[in-house]
Amino acid sequence: MSAFKECVKNIHRVASMVDVDKKLVDDLCKGGDVIEMDFPAMTIRGKKDFDAVTVLQINPHEDGQPHPRKGGIRCKKYKSKAKMIDMTKVLALDMAKKNILADLPFAGGKTCININSSEFTTDELWSIFGGLTVEMLEHNILDANIYVPATDYGTNSEMMKWIYRYYGKLNKIMFRPNAAAVVTGKPVDFDGIPGREDATSRGGLIVLRELLKPTSDLSFAIQGFGNVGRPLAELLNDESFEDMSGKVVAVSDINSGLYNPNGIPYRELSAYHKENKTFKGCSALGDEIAPDEITGVKSDVFVTAAQEDLINGKNAKTLKCEWLLELGNSAVTREADEILNDRNILVIPDIIANAGGVVVSYLEWRKNRGDILHEVDLKAMVEFVHDELRKVMKKSVEKVLKTQEKYKNSSLRLAADIRALTELDRMMKRKNA
Ligand code: NAD
Repeated sequence: MSAFKECVKNIHRVASMVDVDKKLVDDLCKGGDVIEMDFPAMTIRGKKDFDAVTVLQINPHEDGQPHPRKGGIRCKKYKSKAKMIDMTKVLALDMAKKNILADLPFAGGKTCININSSEFTTDELWSIFGGLTVEMLEHNILDANIYVPATDYGTNSEMMKWIYRYYGKLNKIMFRPNAAAVVTGKPVDFDGIPGREDATSRGGLIVLRELLKPTSDLSFAIQGFGNVGRPLAELLNDESFEDMSGKVVAVSDINSGLYNPNGIPYRELSAYHKENKTFKGCSALGDEIAPDEITGVKSDVFVTAAQEDLINGKNAKTLKCEWLLELGNSAVTREADEILNDRNILVIPDIIANAGGVVVSYLEWRKNRGDILHEVDLKAMVEFVHDELRKVMKKSVEKVLKTQEKYKNSSLRLAADIRALTELDRMMKRKNA
C-alpha cells in the first residue's frame, strides 16, 4: 500500500471515532493540490532537468488575512516521481495537522526536489534552487501569503538564503511585498531569526520534558546527525536542559555510527563530524557501529532525526528504549507503531515532537513582515524566541493530553490525530458558516 493510502486509511479510522464533516474527510483524503514541476539547471556535466513537487493542503483559515501554507523543502531521491509525490502528500497532510495543533495561522504544505543533495556541488545546488524558485514563481505558489517553505531533509539555511535572494532580485520587477517572508530558516544575517537552527530539536526536548516529568540521568541514542540530530546532542549539554542531565550514548548518520555507554563528549563528536562528515575513524570517542546497529543499543530515549520508515516492523521488536522521540517525519511505520505500543514504549509522534521548527519559522515570518518589533539586542531576541517556543510546545502537549484523557487507551499519536482532525473540522465549519 502506498504511504498516502495508509494515511487515508488512518484518516477514516480517526474520523470514525469523532463527529466531523464528511466533506472535510473527503477533501483531506484527496491529498491537496499537487503542483508538479520540472526545470533545467546547470551541473558540471551540462544542463539537466530536475523534478520537484509542491503539495498544498486545504486551508482552514479565513481568506481575509494572510494564512499561507507552511512546510519545508526537502531534497530526497525517491525511486520514482510517483513515490516522491506520494510521500510529499503524506508530509503536507502532517504539516496541516502540525500547524493546527500548534495553533499557528498556517495551512499544510510541502515541497520535494527529487535529488540527493549530497551528490551535487554547491554551485550545482545554487543553480537547482534558482531553477526551483523561478518555477515556483511561474506556478504562483511562492509568496509570503501563499506558501512559505523552510529547511527540511537534505536542505539547509544557505539554500533558503538562495531562494530569498533569487526571489528578491526578481521582486525588483514583480513588486510583491515581503520578499524576506517568502521563506524561513534563513541565516540570521540574511533576515533569519536567532533560535531557528536548533528550534526543532529544542521543541522536541521541551515536549519530552513535559511528558516525562521528572526527567533526569537520561541516556539518548540519536539516529541522524543533520539539522535536527546534531543540535539535539548539543542541547543536551546546554543549561536550558540541565535538569535532564542527558548523555548521548549512540549516534548514527547514513553511513556510520558510534556507541559509548558512558556518554560521547559532544564537542569532540561534533567537531569530528563537521570536519569529516562521518563517524568513521572516530574510535577515540566510542565504538564504531553500522548505522542500523543503533536500533539495538540500550538507551532511555531513542531519537529519530533521519529519514522516514527507519523504525519498522522488524527493528521495533528489539528496540531497547523506554521512549521514542520521533523528530524525523514519518520515521515510525504503522506496523512499528503498533508493536511499540504493545511493548509499552511511549512514542512521541512527529506531529507533536518536531513542531518546534515551524513554530520558530512562524516568528521569523512575522519578523520579516514587520509584525515583531525590531530588536537590537540579539540575546533578548533569542530569549523571546525560546519563551514563545516553550509556550506553544507546552500548550500543544496539554491539548493532546486532554484529548487522550477523553479517548481512554488512545496512544499519543491517535490523540494528536483526533485533536488535529476535530480542530480542522471546527475551523472549516467556522470558515464556511
Ligand atoms: P538533514 O538532511 O540535515 O539530516 C539527516 C541526517 O540523517 C543526516 O545526518 C543523514 O546522514 C542521516 N541519515 C539518513 N539516512 C539515515 C539512516 N538510514 N540511518 C541513520 N542516519 C541516516 O535532515 P534534517 O533537517 O535533520 O531532517 C531530519 C528529519 O527531521 C527529517 O525527517 C525531516 O523531515 C525532519 N524535520 C526537519 C525539520 C527541520 O527544521 N530541518 C523540522 C521538522 C522535521
